[in-house]
Amino acid sequence: MFFKSENRRTIASEKNFKIDCLVLGMISTAFTTSASQVYLEKEERFGAHNYHPIPVVIDRGEGVFMWDVEGKRYFDFLSGYSAVNQGHCHPKIIQTLIEQAQTLTLTSRAFHNNWFGEYAEYITSLFGYDKVLPMNTGVEAVETALKLARKWAYEVKGIDENNAKILVCTHNFHGRTLNVVSFSTDPSSKRNFGPFMPGYEVIPFNDLNALEAALQDKNVCGFLVEPIQGEAGVVVPDEGYLSKAAAMCQAANVLFIADEIQTGLARTGMMLACDHEAVRPDILILGKALSGGTLPVSAVLADDEIMLTIKAGEHGSTYGGNPLACRVAIASLQVLKEEKMAENAAIQGAYLRKKLLDLNHPHISIVRGKGLLNAIVIDHPNKEAAWDLCLKMKDNGLLAKPTHGDKIRFAPPLIITQEHIDECVEIISSSLASL
Ligand code: PLP
Repeated sequence: MFFKSENRRTIASEKNFKIDCLVLGMISTAFTTSASQVYLEKEERFGAHNYHPIPVVIDRGEGVFMWDVEGKRYFDFLSGYSAVNQGHCHPKIIQTLIEQAQTLTLTSRAFHNNWFGEYAEYITSLFGYDKVLPMNTGVEAVETALKLARKWAYEVKGIDENNAKILVCTHNFHGRTLNVVSFSTDPSSKRNFGPFMPGYEVIPFNDLNALEAALQDKNVCGFLVEPIQGEAGVVVPDEGYLSKAAAMCQAANVLFIADEIQTGLARTGMMLACDHEAVRPDILILGKALSGGTLPVSAVLADDEIMLTIKAGEHGSTYGGNPLACRVAIASLQVLKEEKMAENAAIQGAYLRKKLLDLNHPHISIVRGKGLLNAIVIDHPNKEAAWDLCLKMKDNGLLAKPTHGDKIRFAPPLIITQEHIDECVEIISSSLASL
């Protein structure tokens, strides 16, 4: 039996409200507290403090919108860090998820399941690779790609054991494991997490001369790069950088490894950000929107020469390639294609950037991006201005989050319309006015 969503929310809020009062021992004060406040306090008390969220508690999402526990509606301008490209709770993805969840969810790879092969065929033909290796979170797929590059280094390229080196870029973001933060250039990712993994060399992003010089080292086996640096604040490299970098890697017999976890799957106006420069990575890493925001699904794609260097028992994951993930991933990819989301991202992204530039606002120093992966850079004497602006936008019905202090990413679901964008730019503009 289903309640109307408004009623369900009220009942759920009341129940949680009472429980929270008991747990927190706040019976006397909690009755004057909003529903959101109770959730915020509970999270602060019992959840680890490894994030600093905007103070809003969401309990529903549909398309480009999310609603908080008080029923207020917001435009989602983060899309779960680009995991919800297809829009919240896309009906086809959710229907597939429900159907498969009622049939079979996990066998582990100890046995075969009837969806992994289907999915592997679908995704490899869509992107044009021999094989796929399925994982769950983005960082696991990055780890997988790095392991593949090392295996290939020793077993195909012929680098002496333990000497392989992988090039990475300044201001990279590839996830949070100890290995991956080992080559981060962000001090807060590394402080007191050492010792770190050797075998990486950091070169400046968007610098072909630096890449050329680093490629002289015969122990280099791979170059790991984000085609646009998302977490760094949507830093778009010069036109031609990716295609020249890929060509230089090919000439040096070095694998070009594209982390398209944030930039891929239609976000930048093409299926892959590398497609803008007709680059085919040797290793392609996908995640996030591969499940339309429903569960962690990631993938590494490569040809046999690389992929078959990893043999049975040398790498894997309990949940990788589970039938639920496989079916949801097929549906999520189909939805991107069927609804022409890359095309819409290109059109609406250009429109959004133009409207933001037309604001000609003294506190916006830069508007940049590709497709619907965009950012503004705030220029304001108050160092908290970007955070304050996000709070103002929240009050006015739009949710976004600063990255690296002064940058705010604008990355709505790819189904956004021109009318929505007009409304959103109004919200951004009026919020800027009250900075
Ligand atoms: N790589 C890139 C480019 C990302 O943007 C992210 C997450 O934001 C990751 C890797 C890590 O993905 P996950 O958080 O799913 O591990």
